[in-house]
Amino acid sequence: MTKRMKLPIPAGVNRVLLHCCCAPCSGEVIEAIQAAGLDLTIIFYNPNIHPVEEYARRKQEIIRFAEDKKILVIDADYDPDTWFARVKGLEDEPEQGRRCEQCFDLRLERTAFYAQENGFSLFTSCLGISRWKNMEQVNACGHRAAARYEGLAYWEYNWRKNGGSSRMIEITKRENFYQQNYCGCVFSLRNAKKRVSVRAEKEARHSGFPPTQEASVDKSPE
Ligand code: SF4
Repeated sequence: MTKRMKLPIPAGVNRVLLHCCCAPCSGEVIEAIQAAGLDLTIIFYNPNIHPVEEYARRKQEIIRFAEDKKILVIDADYDPDTWFARVKGLEDEPEQGRRCEQCFDLRLERTAFYAQENGFSLFTSCLGISRWKNMEQVNACGHRAAARYEGLAYWEYNWRKNGGSSRMIEITKRENFYQQNYCGCVFSLRNAKKRVSVRAEKEARHSGFPPTQEASVDKSPE
């Protein structure tokens, strides 16, 4: 595996709450924090994920990995109504736009609330490790959520650097994690489907054969 350098830990901290969104994004962050000797608790709060079967699948992968490593996972409720209310009017925003900002805000506000209720002075998130996300946007949401409570801080760290991105891929392969092909919400699922059909049509135009499609049961409400 790509060599890991010692993680620079914020001064005076020995425990941290980590918001996890899915196993592929979490593996490297979890192993880096554990290797640094910090006491780690995971919180899973992702009401953005659609449909519920996908939500359950991503959560189960996190629990499987965390159980192996003897890490406590806090399972927050699946409350999609709260999420849909939060992003109302932003349905057609592009990814990394204002809808994603609200989505990160909500998830990290819930994380910050749990942190202050349970005596954590520091929390962080694996959201920023994905190259599909805007790390600055995630970090701004994290700091905003932390600022709601006195004595609470958001740990801003570039989990991609010093080989983090490579280890993320290596751990995903090693653990045979389930890998989704869209960010999570119904709107990102819609966009992913659109991308696939545009690609198929382009291929069909070049080959002269009619386009193909994935043979699966479509459970989305569209
Ligand atoms: S694309 Fe991803 S980050 Fe953006 S709103 Fe949807 S689930 Fe949230």
